[in-house]
Amino acid sequence: MSVPLFATAPALRPLLDEVAERQAAVLRSGQYILGPEVEAFEAELAAFLGVRHCVGVANGTDALTIALRALGVGEGDEVVVPALTFFATAEAVVNCGAIPVFCDVDPATLVMTGASAEPCLGPRTRALIPVHLYGNPAPMDELRALASAHGLALLEDAAQAAGARYGDKMAGALGDAATFSFFPSKNLGGFGDGGAIATDDDEVAKLARRLRFHGSDDRQTHVDIGYNSRLDDLQAAGLRVLLPHLADWTAARRGAAAAYEATGLGDQLTLPVETPRGKCCYHLYVVRTPARDDLAAHLAAADVGARAYYSTPLHQQPALRRFAPAGPLPGVEAAAAESLALPMGPALGEAEVARVAEAVRAADVEPAPQSHAQGEAVASGG
Ligand SMILES: *Cc1c(COP(=O)(O)O)cnc(C)c1O
Repeated sequence: MSVPLFATAPALRPLLDEVAERQAAVLRSGQYILGPEVEAFEAELAAFLGVRHCVGVANGTDALTIALRALGVGEGDEVVVPALTFFATAEAVVNCGAIPVFCDVDPATLVMTGASAEPCLGPRTRALIPVHLYGNPAPMDELRALASAHGLALLEDAAQAAGARYGDKMAGALGDAATFSFFPSKNLGGFGDGGAIATDDDEVAKLARRLRFHGSDDRQTHVDIGYNSRLDDLQAAGLRVLLPHLADWTAARRGAAAAYEATGLGDQLTLPVETPRGKCCYHLYVVRTPARDDLAAHLAAADVGARAYYSTPLHQQPALRRFAPAGPLPGVEAAAAESLALPMGPALGEAEVARVAEAVRAADVEPAPQSHAQGEAVASGG
């Protein structure tokens, strides 16, 4: 009777035999690291995204660190990062020796915009990292214009956005480079840790390949201090089985989002708002209400999975407080206080959506204020 927060297992179950067969073939081959499965997966992911290069690495956090360095970010550079995201987005900046400058997010779409990033620019700014939060693409047109005007690198953190679209492109094909995570709960989730860097830039791809292998192009001469950060062939073999299903899974997630909206949940809660030109892939379905903690308690009692993400935003995290801006970040702070993720996944059916909606209605939380103006109403699914 319970509805889990992540309904991913039912979508994976029919594919597990094929995953096991392909992984068994890898075991027999003896090629476990940077072998043919990794190379094939990199090519297939690049084709799916519509970019020239994908570089597989050990996880999405390393993907960010390596991409930043490949884009030329280093000691003392400033990098603008939204304060509403997973810790890793800023952690990677600090691990490059650079300084994260936290910007606000749009109060409706919860992503970095040109207007929210611009006040953070200064003479030492080197890059912007828009995060496609919960699968909702940041407005890349205006961020591209801002980056070009100021000579900044534009790195998409697309860890939550595999399968999302913006205009006629995939999320991950919009910046100078993009990073993905294959952590099991992500929309393209593997069977352990994994990550990738996507780029159209030959030089960035070459540097990323070098940095993932101890700063070496030929595995003998080390021309840079890099990392040991590689995607395993066992992971790549599994991900190659899943990738062809990602488009269908994304459509199913969008269908579930439309089904939530059709229940009338929006009378009680603020529902997710897509970026203009964006097609969200609903990594999470995050609603907002001032009575968030009440609602969470009611849903827990009703056996409905729900969780508050990023309720302590990055500029208030102990490890990052030294980078906090002088003033408040009102969009981030309101979202951190009011957000709650409801169940979402490629196998979330109408019956489960109805059960969640019923549990929300029974919780009887106060209606949301109608003040979130900027984005467009969420599109219907499909
Ligand atoms: C998951 C995630 C990461 C980090 O990915 P890992 O594979 O867990 O290292 C980075 N940024 C965002 C926004 C994420 O959601």
